[in-house]
Amino acid sequence: MSSDDYLGDVEVVKHFEVLIKSFEDYKNSIDSILTPLKQFLIRLNALINPTSEIKIKVLSTPSSNEIISNIEEAINDMRTQVKEIANIIKEVEKISKESKIKCDKCDGEGEIYNRVYDKVDGTIQETLRGEICNKCKGRGYLYLSNTLVSHLKIIEVLKLLLIKVPTDKD
Ligand SMILES: [Zn+2]
Repeated sequence: MSSDDYLGDVEVVKHFEVLIKSFEDYKNSIDSILTPLKQFLIRLNALINPTSEIKIKVLSTPSSNEIISNIEEAINDMRTQVKEIANIIKEVEKISKESKIKCDKCDGEGEIYNRVYDKVDGTIQETLRGEICNKCKGRGYLYLSNTLVSHLKIIEVLKLLLIKVPTDKD
């Protein structure tokens, strides 16, 4: 097999790029939740220790309702991002087990169907004509090299993130 036969390797690299992007989005959401949480803390501190200094600080924070709604927004984003991260990890695990990935150009069909128009007896007829997918060469799958697959043991570690974290009360 030539290196051209391991197009799946390229797809795996793209998956890891998307994974990192998702982690970065998650990191931004954590920053977004810290701001309203700290504002909430200022308000709590004002309750237990209402000095004039802290009362002035409270004035610079948004209302309680606004703080809660900002926290809610960040949490919703985080839940979506965690789901995205989980999906990518599971996808790469599947790819790693199978050592192949479905061709994105033909969606695993191995063929691309084009609409062709023929003039038959004076009328235009539309037909679908199959053409072998030039990306996967008709295989429907893009294959991974053994070297790349051996690197994917990282997935065993990344998967730990998907295990539900028990609390002390579970
Ligand atoms: Zn294909």
